[in-house]
Amino acid sequence: MTDLELQGMALELAREAGEAGEVPIGALVIRAGAVIGRGRNRMEELQDATAHAEMFALRQAANHLGTWRLDGCQLFATLEPCPMCAGAILNSRIGRVVYGAPDHRLGACRTHWALLERNPVGREVEVVEGVLGEESAKLLRSFFRELRIGDRASASDRRPMGDPDEIA
Ligand SMILES: [Zn+2]
Repeated sequence: MTDLELQGMALELAREAGEAGEVPIGALVIRAGAVIGRGRNRMEELQDATAHAEMFALRQAANHLGTWRLDGCQLFATLEPCPMCAGAILNSRIGRVVYGAPDHRLGACRTHWALLERNPVGREVEVVEGVLGEESAKLLRSFFRELRIGDRASASDRRPMGDPDEIA
């Protein structure tokens, strides 16, 4: 499967999150062309600031393989991973990260920090940005637009990442 096809699957998970009232972000972990981890944002459901899509995808992949060492795996995310997720990606030994939209608020792969490409542990992590980036950003923008129309207070609360006003 191509990056585009895999990112399309991550985008489906992001849509699922949006339909469940969560900020629409999805992630996948791939190994040898197969999806071994899936995640979507669940912060509202679990009332957990760490319930990011990437964390679930990494955890599911580790459970699937029976090890936290995800050498040779790739992570796909619809939005640029934050510092927490970038840390988890480094700890998991993921070798390649593909993401869609840049996160102008907390982007830790290129936008504000380059935690993956310039990591202190000398790990080689390939970063590819912008795969279905516009689609991912559009999904976030329309989610926040609807939220703002519905309830202004909760809209400003729910901008832990991917502030749509700042997503080009
Ligand atoms: Zn994150």
